[in-house]
Amino acid sequence: MAEADIALIGLAVMGQNLILNMNDHGFVVCAFNRTVSKVDDFLANEAKGTKVIGAHSLEEMVSKLKKPRRIILLVKAGKAVDDFINKLVPLLETGDIIIDGGNSEYRDTTRRCKELQEKGILFVGSGVSGGEEGARYGPSLMPGGAKEAWPHIKTIFQSIAAKVGSGEPCCDWVGDEGAGHFVKMVHNGIEYGDMQLICEAYHLMKDVVGMEHDEMSKVFQEWNKTELDSFLIEITANILKFKDSDGKYLLPKIKDSAGQKGTGKWTAISALEYGVPVTLIGEAVFARCLSSLKDERVQASKLLDGPKMTQFSGNKKAFLEDIRKALYASKIISYAQGFMLLRQAAKEFGWTLNYGGIALMWRGGCIIRSVFLGKIKDAFDRNPELQNLLLDDFFKTAVENCQDSWRRVISTGVQIGIPMPCFTTALSFYDGYRHEILPANLIQAQRDYFGAHTYELLSKPGVFIHTNWTGHG
Ligand code: NAP
Repeated sequence: MAEADIALIGLAVMGQNLILNMNDHGFVVCAFNRTVSKVDDFLANEAKGTKVIGAHSLEEMVSKLKKPRRIILLVKAGKAVDDFINKLVPLLETGDIIIDGGNSEYRDTTRRCKELQEKGILFVGSGVSGGEEGARYGPSLMPGGAKEAWPHIKTIFQSIAAKVGSGEPCCDWVGDEGAGHFVKMVHNGIEYGDMQLICEAYHLMKDVVGMEHDEMSKVFQEWNKTELDSFLIEITANILKFKDSDGKYLLPKIKDSAGQKGTGKWTAISALEYGVPVTLIGEAVFARCLSSLKDERVQASKLLDGPKMTQFSGNKKAFLEDIRKALYASKIISYAQGFMLLRQAAKEFGWTLNYGGIALMWRGGCIIRSVFLGKIKDAFDRNPELQNLLLDDFFKTAVENCQDSWRRVISTGVQIGIPMPCFTTALSFYDGYRHEILPANLIQAQRDYFGAHTYELLSKPGVFIHTNWTGHG
């Protein structure tokens, strides 16, 4: 009997939690998994006492679904998604909907959308953010793909998503093809940037100011009451003060070698591919790469000299406020760059993206959730055609207010020899973006000199000329 509102395939942590979330909101979910025994385990344990039902085959699962059938895949990205799609297609009818909620690459999603469109199946690729906790109690959801599917999944998606403000869901339709997964990818890239920026602030507090962990924790706690109010600042305050079973702080015992799964790298690759200067996310990815060269760094630390660390003699309170402002200004640059990439992708692929809606989707439920994203939403509400976040009055003034502090922090850090790849690249971007004239005229001349690549004169736009720079031949 067709009794289930939706099916979910993939009973690892994300899938289980999303099922329980849908169940809490009154939807009947049918659970399935490649290793079928996990269905019974789930029904007997985590889903005990709920309305969740199970299936032991895809055929059984499909037979239990109301039409149009809605099926969410929450399995490992890549081959597993294609395998399930191939098995499902012969069992489905025109107008049925397959939703991939895993971390798929946006190009795979675009391909699947096209392939399934030909078969009459509506395919949706949805970014799901917020980890296990988000999946269980309210994730940020970023669906894109076949828009005809949206009216059929909107109620379920917006019910289970995180809510902000007066109950606005952190979920809306993102755009065509792989737009949902593209937006999720940029979200993850921004997450890399936010994390690295916080690390740079921590490094300055620890090694320039010479602060203890409890004190740093209190500073982050205070910062969480300012424009920086966010999940990542909040957890940083908690991490800093966390003590191990031996009563000592845990953080300094953790190996300083950062891991990564690839979505930050994908964002940086897309930025290069589409020629968008998303420098901060790129630096954040490279900072993780550099951190992972632990053995080499240990060796180099014994051989390569830098400035001698001296005791901090400045005004501590003022310098901490400078660091906070440097972090805030850099964060504004990072988001401005992220939205530049979204804008360029929209142009490349012919997607219509709702930038304010995207800011709202990230406002709650996900790792980069912050009060700050509300300000971005406001900026796009004021001007949906906003070319760059930095040109919005609110952000323009915010960066102006931080600028002196930002420059002081970077000068101090550079003098003392503290690496601050994201603070510095953000400032370089800002200075580059606000310069009417950059030295690229020399690059053009050099290119013409050695390769006859031609150049354009400022006085004659559109006219490309070559000069015989050496007077030879
Ligand atoms: P996962 O470890 O990424 O995937 C496990 C699930 O995939 C299991 O149901 C497994 O089935 C199935 N699976 C793996 N290889 C398969 C194959 N070749 N064929 C068919 N099924 C296969 O689980 P997860 O951490 O819950 O994540 C699910 C998806 O959500 C992933 O795409 C992940 O990137 C994404 N995601 C995860 C998080 C997070 O915080 N974990 C956050 C956002 C998004 P078996 O039980 O049979 O092995």
